[in-house]
Amino acid sequence: MPGQWNIVVYVIFVAKWGLPVRIGVDIDGVLADSLSLWINELNSYFKKNKRVEQIRLLDICETYEVTPQELSGFLARRGRYLMTRPEPITGASQYLGMIKKQHDVYIVTARDERYRQETMDWLSKYNLPYDELLLLGSHEKKEACLSRNLSVLVEDTLEIGVKVSSAGVPVLLLDAPYNQGALPDLIYRAYSWFDVYRTIIVEPHLLNLACTAERRI
Ligand SMILES: [Mg+2]
Repeated sequence: MPGQWNIVVYVIFVAKWGLPVRIGVDIDGVLADSLSLWINELNSYFKKNKRVEQIRLLDICETYEVTPQELSGFLARRGRYLMTRPEPITGASQYLGMIKKQHDVYIVTARDERYRQETMDWLSKYNLPYDELLLLGSHEKKEACLSRNLSVLVEDTLEIGVKVSSAGVPVLLLDAPYNQGALPDLIYRAYSWFDVYRTIIVEPHLLNLACTAERRI
């Protein structure tokens, strides 16, 4: 009876690993080591000498003292390069792959839809598995997290994490020079991809993942 065996295997899987949940994962600064590339390109294009700790990707115009039109010009010239050239963050491929074996992975990025093919190619090139790729074209990720019923978002931008966590979705904030400071409730700092993996797989109770899984079924 294959159907019965499927149920038995599923029950054993759940007993051992817990119910599968939906894990949201950002790209730039989380899967892709993009920031140094962005800063090099921005510094070169706008003839500045900014350092990584001075950068807020949410307010590039303010940091570089340029207009939105000037930033659009930069992205038109260098956007595809910035989407395709970063190296992956250390451990991202290995640990995302291990997480994907037990949970569903939703990539949630502020990248624009027009970069879908480049982004898919980049994810494939570095063996970064996922179930769905959401290119929002905006830094507003709260609605996407809620509509997909994500149980946690792995993110590096603190301001995005604050908005997402305020909607009740826990956030694992991958540590970076630009996201230092005290964290509000439901945001937990992770210092590496091993740390992300350990929290989601070994210590899911810290994120209340079991409870969110129960809510879904
Ligand atoms: Mg990011």
